[in-house]
Amino acid sequence: MQAELNIGVLGHVDHGKTTLVRALTGKWTDTHSEELKRGISIRLGYADMNVYQCERCGAYSNKDTCLVCGGPATFKRRVSFVDAPGHETLMATTIAGSSIIDGVLFIVAADEKCPQPQTKEHFAIIEALNIKNIVIVQTKIDLVSKERAKQSLEEIKAFVKGTVAEDAPIIPVVATHGINIHYLLQAIEQYIPTPQRDESKDPIMYISRSFDVNKPGTPISHLQGGVVGGSIKDGVIKLGDVLELRPGVEWKGKLESVSFEVTSLRAEKDVLTEAKPGGLIAVGTTLDPALTKADSLIGNVIGKPGALPEVLTELDVEYEILPIRKDEVKGFVKNEPVVLNVHTATTVGFITDVKGSVFRVKLKRPVAVEKGSAVAISKRIGQRWKLSAWGKVK
Ligand code: GDP
Ligand code: MG
Repeated sequence: MQAELNIGVLGHVDHGKTTLVRALTGKWTDTHSEELKRGISIRLGYADMNVYQCERCGAYSNKDTCLVCGGPATFKRRVSFVDAPGHETLMATTIAGSSIIDGVLFIVAADEKCPQPQTKEHFAIIEALNIKNIVIVQTKIDLVSKERAKQSLEEIKAFVKGTVAEDAPIIPVVATHGINIHYLLQAIEQYIPTPQRDESKDPIMYISRSFDVNKPGTPISHLQGGVVGGSIKDGVIKLGDVLELRPGVEWKGKLESVSFEVTSLRAEKDVLTEAKPGGLIAVGTTLDPALTKADSLIGNVIGKPGALPEVLTELDVEYEILPIRKDEVKGFVKNEPVVLNVHTATTVGFITDVKGSVFRVKLKRPVAVEKGSAVAISKRIGQRWKLSAWGKVK
């Protein structure tokens, strides 16, 4: 069984994003410290949840019995949460570029004044992505008085006033004790619908992780091909499909696209014969596992040979400064370095020309990108890269 859509989980550090995802799905997505210890790159954490509805009282549940009355509940749909690990603002920016988010849970803790610095940063992502399906979750209400809970609610309302999230529901919860989860599920069902998908389109998947699944010392006859993971944007990928990878792998100092066959498909632990948009999909391939090891293919795109976006080292981007940054950022100048997130690719570039609201940027690493793709643009402000604008490839 496969999730139908992806919901990003955003908000200030320690406000309870990962705890809430665990309350909803049973899965702990924050592998941050583990990944740091092992020296591997930090990944987005996906966790899937089934939504059920009670046959007796109509309340929503994350299991097949009702959380309110204990009655039997019927399956409605499966959704996937995407959590940004640890303190990584840049990982959250990856979500912004990834073009795989259909809605957002925006987390604000009641025990701190709103907005905190990352409350603003992550809200900028919502604006950059132009996401309209938003549920605000007020966490940690067990830690505050009734008065403070109400004051926190007013702060949240003031923060989102005049933005896309102005009319978003605000659901108070205690994630550590699973309190009000059924109200949160109801809001998710009502405000984050599954988008219409066109299965007849050519399949496109952006790679957000890649592995060599073979244990050291495996005999050559037992070696499995490389595995790539990511979310499908459009279309369907089937077992046996012959697909192409772009920009591809380095060969004699140049990037070359490569073709491969799909040998297995998985969503979480489930084995699939075909995979559609929604959730994290692992695609087993006939690629040499040396090419896929240690996330080396992040930022690549797979799809039908000949039907993939062009590989570009220079982009024209029509940009708009994020409303939240208008005081700090006036625009971009020639020779300025920028970090771009385009789909799952993170790439550094230098601006070579600016004309009105369009800049041309030369990239250090090429990207496979079609015209009209969304780009998240980070600018150097003081000592840090800050998500400052969003744009479209012209
Ligand atoms: P993240 O950085 O946003 O992912 O935050 P975490 O999920 O790691 O939570 C940070 C801390 O807040 C942890 O110690 C959690 O146990 C705690 N926490 C999260 N939600 C709640 C809540 O609703 N009530 C209380 N009392 N603690 C919470
Ligand atoms: Mg976390």
